[in-house]
Amino acid sequence: MEDIFGQQFPLPKKITQHCPLCGARLSENDLNVLEEDDRGVLIYSSCANCKVGMLARLHAVPQGFVGVGMLTDLQLKEIDLLGSAPVSAEDVLQVKQLADKGKLKIQ
Ligand SMILES: [Zn+2]
Repeated sequence: MEDIFGQQFPLPKKITQHCPLCGARLSENDLNVLEEDDRGVLIYSSCANCKVGMLARLHAVPQGFVGVGMLTDLQLKEIDLLGSAPVSAEDVLQVKQLADKGKLKIQ
């Protein structure tokens, strides 16, 4: 069964329709599904009114959804970086070497 966002599971309206902080109505553009599998979804929403972000992991159970969520000041582009590869010591040394050679300016 798909909801209005085309999700495999109808997402809880309490989370997807109103900002948990100020109560402003969220639009479809404010909600982003970051991951989805047969167990549930990871969603990020941002409120156009108060600018707060919410990251929530919801798992589907026979009775509906269970999950955890948190308010955040992270923007969507910053959330996307969380899944990238970690910075290694070698990466840091390369940046230092480039800066020392004047090929990279760090401010
Ligand atoms: Zn809000």
